[in-house]
Amino acid sequence: MIKNCVVCKEPIHPKRLQVLPNTTRCVKCSDVQKKGAVTIMRGQGEDTWIETIHLEHEEYKAYMKEENKLKKLGKFMFDDSEPKSDIPYSFHEEKPDE
Ligand SMILES: [Zn+2]
Repeated sequence: MIKNCVVCKEPIHPKRLQVLPNTTRCVKCSDVQKKGAVTIMRGQGEDTWIETIHLEHEEYKAYMKEENKLKKLGKFMFDDSEPKSDIPYSFHEEKPDE
């Protein structure tokens, strides 16, 4: 989903929208308040990298609240890894009607 900043009409970074689906401004245009930054780990195994997202103070607080909620559940924000089943297909036994 692409959403444009209401101030400069530039597209808002998708990662920002992932954290703040209701945001209307890009980072550049929302520097009215003190900013916070969160670093996140992306990727899997040896192919991992760090991304930094800058947030407004209020957004940062909202983010941390969300993250703490997820941590309690043992989950992480931006976790791309889907649990994969090692069973390639499923089968079931059919019982004869007799
Ligand atoms: Zn903008």
